[in-house]
Amino acid sequence: MASDLTMEVKKIARQAGADLVGIASIDRFEHAPAHVHPHSIFSHTQSAIAVGLRMVRGALKTAEEGHYWQAYNCDSYQYLNEILAPGILRRIVLFLEDHGYTAVPIHNPFGANMGRPVYPGGPRPDGMISLRVVGCAAGLGELGLSKLFLSPQFGPRQRMFAVLTDAELKPDPLLTDPVCDECGECIRGCPAEAMSSERTVEVRIGNHIFRHGDFDPKKCSPIHQGWDPRYSPFLRKDSSRENPPPYYRFLDHRFRHHSICVGRGCVRACMDHLEKSGRLEKQYRIPMIEGKQWVIEDPLD
Ligand code: SF4
Ligand code: SF4
Repeated sequence: MASDLTMEVKKIARQAGADLVGIASIDRFEHAPAHVHPHSIFSHTQSAIAVGLRMVRGALKTAEEGHYWQAYNCDSYQYLNEILAPGILRRIVLFLEDHGYTAVPIHNPFGANMGRPVYPGGPRPDGMISLRVVGCAAGLGELGLSKLFLSPQFGPRQRMFAVLTDAELKPDPLLTDPVCDECGECIRGCPAEAMSSERTVEVRIGNHIFRHGDFDPKKCSPIHQGWDPRYSPFLRKDSSRENPPPYYRFLDHRFRHHSICVGRGCVRACMDHLEKSGRLEKQYRIPMIEGKQWVIEDPLD
């Protein structure tokens, strides 16, 4: 029974620690370009299981206060991506294998399309699917103006993962009520001006079109990685990419990357707005943003 199997898959995911789990049937991807279609990874895919894991609110709050970056880099980046998600996906995969199905865990991040096709007309390994889009296709949320995946539970505060399987599971209805209200706080809070205010990019899933603004990763990247002294307390006068500050070396060594912006606009300002305006399911005792967001006034003095 598809519904019994689906219920079991969801139960296993939740018991293993998933905050969100939903199912997309393969027809939801009929408008996806071939190079980002689930079949470019696993040609027998019938269902995509979307799994959302929340980033802890305190890790974002302490970066918002300008006090502590390690919780985000350890818990909400490395631990989610490299420890918790692989464990949860593996539990789902093994359960499906035990029932005679084949299932593929889709981790994050990707080393996408770095190979060449092994047969004429084949996809370029490794294939890549958008985990944000899988989340939408599985009914767990929508795309904000910022391009980030937004859920009614956590707003932008989760990372998405997936399992592709040949099992025909029962799909969840799409979420068509918007979480995003176009407030523009993500844009105003982004020091890199990486987002645009018009929803010009369309993602068609089934009969529904999700729209988000254009996003420029080249503008985001230097701020995200902490190369602007107004938004990083760790830079020194002699810092450069060839001579990174000791804290970046520590994060890179310990957690294999460093995130310094910690979503000042795209995550924290968005969360703050969605929480304060009552658009998320939960409320918290302290707001994400109290007063004005900090900017270092005398960088490198
Ligand atoms: S900050 Fe406002 S406009 Fe931007 S994604 Fe969030 S809700 Fe939408
Ligand atoms: S991570 Fe920072 S710089 Fe990048 S889009 Fe979000 S707010 Fe802008």
